[in-house]
Amino acid sequence: MVILKGAEVSAKIKAQVEEKLKHIEGPAPKLAIVRVGEKPDDMSYERGAKKKLESFGLRAESYVFPADIENGAFQKAFRQINEDPEVTGILLLRPLPGQICEKDIEKQIDPKKDLDGISPENIAKVFAGDETGFAPCTAEAVIQVLKANAIPISGKRVTIVGRSMVVGKPLSMLMLKENATVTVCHTKTVDLKETCRNAEILVAAAGKARMLNGEYVGPEAVVIDVGINVDENGKLCGDVDFDSIQEQASCATPVPGGVGAVTTAVLASHLVQACERNRWSV
Ligand code: NAP
Repeated sequence: MVILKGAEVSAKIKAQVEEKLKHIEGPAPKLAIVRVGEKPDDMSYERGAKKKLESFGLRAESYVFPADIENGAFQKAFRQINEDPEVTGILLLRPLPGQICEKDIEKQIDPKKDLDGISPENIAKVFAGDETGFAPCTAEAVIQVLKANAIPISGKRVTIVGRSMVVGKPLSMLMLKENATVTVCHTKTVDLKETCRNAEILVAAAGKARMLNGEYVGPEAVVIDVGINVDENGKLCGDVDFDSIQEQASCATPVPGGVGAVTTAVLASHLVQACERNRWSV
């Protein structure tokens, strides 16, 4: 089984970003990372994203708010970031605390700065197959992993386990755009094992540590593991039981070191695209 390493895909995206940056004058594009509270997962993602962006020659600044900030105060602060001409793109770490109206943020974020595709306009564009919008970075990272490794998508049977707005649903649309035949599974899916085993490309995005073992993988299947979980020993792992799929799968992404590394690279490429689009539209 071939291991599809995220670092190799990320390096390819980095080369494209650096090429585009040569044609951008003035200060490097700047990402605003908006975080509410001190959740370790958010802070770890934020550190990784910042490090990656800076290594690509891009800027990133954190905007941190207390976990108990009132909705009105947060909406106002977010509006200022949104309207700041210095800010090229925004990444909002979610979910937000319950007192904050996330829907209002989704409606107010400038679609041209919405690098993770949370605004209604970008969601509609992903569903319409319109590439002028931004898809959620993780969903796009899955496509990038396949393309960078020259794995054909067109005409393939793709099964996605998970139907969230962050991964499963947008990914199903991106796969359709690539002419795959797509099945989306969730907790009410009957015969999950059989449906997964029938897939030529299996994408795991359920958030359940090692739930998909070798019995869920068909012969020569490509397995993309989006899951990031912590197992009972406190170790980072995916949704796929990596060791048990070695016989069946033709190739697979590891966790860590797979899709996660590509997600932040896609974020960087979205930031440069946002910069290009904003400057052209001036
Ligand atoms: P989520 O919002 O919790 O959605 C999980 C989805 O999986 C739901 O649609 C759920 O079905 C389905 N599911 C859960 N258990 C299942 C089961 N036993 N059988 C079938 N379907 C099942 O999670 P998410 O935000 O999409 O994230 C999914 C995973 O990806 C998590 O591990 C997360 O940490 C990871 N992630 C990774 C990245 C990255 O950069 N690599 C980025 C984002 C997320 P229902 O709809 O029926 O509940």
